[in-house]
Amino acid sequence: NDPDEMIRVDGLRKTYGDGHHAVDGVTWSARRGQVVGLLGPNGAGKTTTLRMAVGLIHPDAGETRILGRRVQPGDPVLSHVGALIEGPGFVPHLTGRANLHAYWAATGRPSSEAGFDEALDVAALGGALDRPVKSYSHGMKQRLGIAQAMLGRPELLILDEPTNGLDPPQIAALRPILQRYAATGRTVVVSSHLLAEVEQTCSHVVVMHAGKVLVAGAVSDLGVAGDRHLEEVFLE
Ligand code: ATP
Repeated sequence: NDPDEMIRVDGLRKTYGDGHHAVDGVTWSARRGQVVGLLGPNGAGKTTTLRMAVGLIHPDAGETRILGRRVQPGDPVLSHVGALIEGPGFVPHLTGRANLHAYWAATGRPSSEAGFDEALDVAALGGALDRPVKSYSHGMKQRLGIAQAMLGRPELLILDEPTNGLDPPQIAALRPILQRYAATGRTVVVSSHLLAEVEQTCSHVVVMHAGKVLVAGAVSDLGVAGDRHLEEVFLE
């Protein structure tokens, strides 16, 4: 076992009822200190891959290991994972602050005031933090969801299209937050359909298209190895 390998998905496969291969044999890994971008156009299979990786849905084949342990629904290793995958489940009539408190208590992760304040900075909601979540815009909910996933500083942070609904300044603000997070020996996996976003934020990239991995590696190597593949996916 490699102690620096935070997550490895190996041969994941998911086929839906109509015979459509949403994810068709996907393998990648992410190590401590890395911000890994799962990059691909809509329908590439990013969300389905991430849902399988955290045990939200069962793969038809393949497995995920987190910190060397095979992921099963309810496995304690999942307490090391903070994830925002599809709409976060907030209690609409509770305030943003109350939602964060309730979520944190439910994770069982150790709580500290510093950790909570850090999440509040990420949410950047100001006075709106004390208003009911049902009054929030999509972007505000998205920021609260990212903050929620980071509560307790989990070793592995998985965010599915976190910049959805954010405006350009908010997207720019998220970038160093994720980079600093990984720089403390943690791991961030983030999906996106925007090449530029991944280039600016991530240290590594896994390019997906039609349920398969086309190319994976360090972002700094992409220009050499990935050009042709990236053109295929993004200029089609
Ligand atoms: P997006 O950014 O649009 O979410 P994605 O890369 O995350 O794209 P997925 O959401 O994983 O892609 O979807 C991959 C494929 O699987 C798509 O063709 C989608 O229509 C299909 N799919 C996803 N979920 C289901 C489902 N529950 N039933 C049937 N087909 C599904």
